[in-house]
Amino acid sequence: MDLIKYNTLVMNEGGINLQRGMNFGIRGSYSIVLMSVEKNAPYADEVFDDGIIKYEGHDAERVPKEQKKLIDQPLAYSSGTPTQNGKFYDAVMQFKKGEREAGKIKVYRKIRAGIWVDMGFYDLIDGYLQNDGNRNVFKFILKPISNVFEPDAADNIEIDHNRLIPGWVMQEVYIRDKGQCQQCGAKDNLHFDHIIPYSKHGSSKDPKNIQLLCARHNLKKSNKLVY
Ligand SMILES: [Zn+2]
Repeated sequence: MDLIKYNTLVMNEGGINLQRGMNFGIRGSYSIVLMSVEKNAPYADEVFDDGIIKYEGHDAERVPKEQKKLIDQPLAYSSGTPTQNGKFYDAVMQFKKGEREAGKIKVYRKIRAGIWVDMGFYDLIDGYLQNDGNRNVFKFILKPISNVFEPDAADNIEIDHNRLIPGWVMQEVYIRDKGQCQQCGAKDNLHFDHIIPYSKHGSSKDPKNIQLLCARHNLKKSNKLVY
């Protein structure tokens, strides 16, 4: 799992502006969603212990800011064209009827201004409307995919475990480690590393067991553990 800056994220995804957050089919074979765990995050996204993400749909556009959180999230624009909610929801309905395979979704998670975590690929397996107390919002269920898009199986195991690091732990570790590799001070190609490996019951939920390492030192460490 990579910690990347927004401009690197855009570059990795072919130079497409992703700021609207939900980007159905934007890469042809897959969609991209952005989620945030910041305190002021606009949507109530959740990550569960099994790695499943409950991703909230997006509010109506072109309405006054103070009304955005009061009106139902729309499936379509007034023209009838589906919104991003509509496109994701259609994909879910088709998948549930067996008309298509689950949509492939790449998830990026913002841990602080300009800093994103590449969470890898998920299957879009469900979606529904839910009342949040004020109005109806969409919830989309994203299930982590293993061993599909990542060529190196050893990496996959680590990716799966890293998906379970809670957002607040990522934020705390990033700040504590000053955004630098703890071995060499590098600020690029950073990964979250389990000090005691997950396979040896090291915790994903204790910041003391997670540190920032650059790709080089992360690799060195995992090789040592494997061989
Ligand atoms: Zn390093």
